[in-house]
Amino acid sequence: MKIDAIMQEGNQYTMNTYKRLPVAFQSGEGSYLKDTEGKQYLDMIGGLGACGLGHNHPAVTKAIQDQAEKLIHVANIYWIQEQVELGKLLVQHSFGDKAFFCNSGAEANEAAIKLARKYAYKKYGDQKNEVIAMTSAFHGRTIATLGVTYNKKYQEGYGPIPTGFKFAEFNNIDALNEAITENTCAIMMETIQGEGGVTPVDKDFLKEVKAICEEKDILLIFDEIQCGVARTGKLFAYENYGIEPDIMTLAKALGSGFPIGAMIAKDKVAEVFNPGDHGTTFGGNPLACATALGTMNFILKEKLWKKAEESGAYFAEKLTELIDKYPWVKQVKGKGLMVGLELEIEGGFIVEKAFEERLLMNCTAGNVLRFLPPLIIEKEEIDKSVEILDKIFKEIKVD
Ligand SMILES: *Cc1c(COP(=O)(O)O)cnc(C)c1O
Repeated sequence: MKIDAIMQEGNQYTMNTYKRLPVAFQSGEGSYLKDTEGKQYLDMIGGLGACGLGHNHPAVTKAIQDQAEKLIHVANIYWIQEQVELGKLLVQHSFGDKAFFCNSGAEANEAAIKLARKYAYKKYGDQKNEVIAMTSAFHGRTIATLGVTYNKKYQEGYGPIPTGFKFAEFNNIDALNEAITENTCAIMMETIQGEGGVTPVDKDFLKEVKAICEEKDILLIFDEIQCGVARTGKLFAYENYGIEPDIMTLAKALGSGFPIGAMIAKDKVAEVFNPGDHGTTFGGNPLACATALGTMNFILKEKLWKKAEESGAYFAEKLTELIDKYPWVKQVKGKGLMVGLELEIEGGFIVEKAFEERLLMNCTAGNVLRFLPPLIIEKEEIDKSVEILDKIFKEIKVD
C-alpha cells in the first residue's frame, strides 16, 4: 500500500490517539528503517527505546522463530520453562529475588503499586496505602498509573483517577520529607526521567531517599522501563548510583520491541503475593520470554552496557560541539545512550525537519530533543546524526 492510502484508511479505521509522521515502515536492519517506498531512515529513537538491539537482530529473530515453531502460548495455570529461565537471569543480574511478568510498562507499574500496597496492608492494615511520585514523572497511561504520571494533560477527562497518589518535587529532599506521612507505603521514581525531559536523579537525593525509606519502612520503587536494560552504561540504571530499590519495573528494551514487562522485587516484598493475588493471561508466555531471553543473553554476552557507555560519551561529545556553535542549544542531558539535547526554543519542528532528512528522533518536555538509539549504534551513524542536526540548526534563526 502507498503511504497516502495507509494514512487515509488509518484515519478511517484506527482511533485517532497518536500524532504520527507521514510514513510507514516496512523493514529494518540494525539502526536503519526502510519505508513503504524503499526510502531509508537512520533510527535514533529506536521505537522509543524498545529496540535496544536495533531492527532484525539475528539473536532476537532466531529466538522468536525457534520458539514460535514449538509453542507460543500457554496459560499461567502451568509452569513455563522460558518464564522461569528469564526470572532466574533477571534475578541473578539484579538486586531482586523474584520476578513477575506482564505485557507492558504500565502493567509492570500497576503490579508494583499493587505489590507495595499489599506489603503495607499485611504489615500495617489498610491505611498505609499512599504512593509518592516525582514531579515530571511518567509511569504510564492506565487509570492507576495516571495517578503517578505528573503531566495533567494525560489525566484530563478521565477522572476520577484512583486516590492514594501524590507528587513531590524531583531531586528535592525537603519537598519529599514534607510529602511523606505515616500513610506513605512507597516512593516511586524513574532513575532517569524519560518523558519528563531526560533528567537523571541526583545521587545525594537518592541516598537520602533510600535512608528515609529504610527508616520508615517505605518501599522504594524504581521505574527502569526506559532507562534499564543496558542503556545507561550499566545493565540497570540504579547501578550508576549504588542504591538498590525494593521493587523495579522493566519493559521497553527487555523484549527488543516484543511486548513484555517485568516487575522484580526483594523476597521480603515479593512474599506477600500468594496464588490468586495478581495475574495476567499473556504475561510471561513462552514466546515473550524466549524473545527476552534471546535479547538478554546477547546483551550479557556482549556486555552491551559498556558499548552504550562509550557510544553515549562519544555522542555527548559531538552534541557538545553544537552547544558551542549555537547559543540557543543549552545542554546535553542523560546518561549513556539515553540522551537529551536541551534547547532554549521549542523542539517539535526540528523533529519534523530531521524526518525530512531521514533522521528519526523525538522531542519531549517541549524543548528536549531525545535520542534513544539502538545500543548497537555505530560511530559513523552518530556522526551522521550530528551532521544532519548541524545542517538543520544552521538554518534556524533565533533572536
Ligand atoms: C514507556 C514508559 C512507561 C509505560 O510503558 P508502556 O509499555 O507504554 O505502558 C512507563 N514508565 C516509563 C518510565 C516509560 O518510559
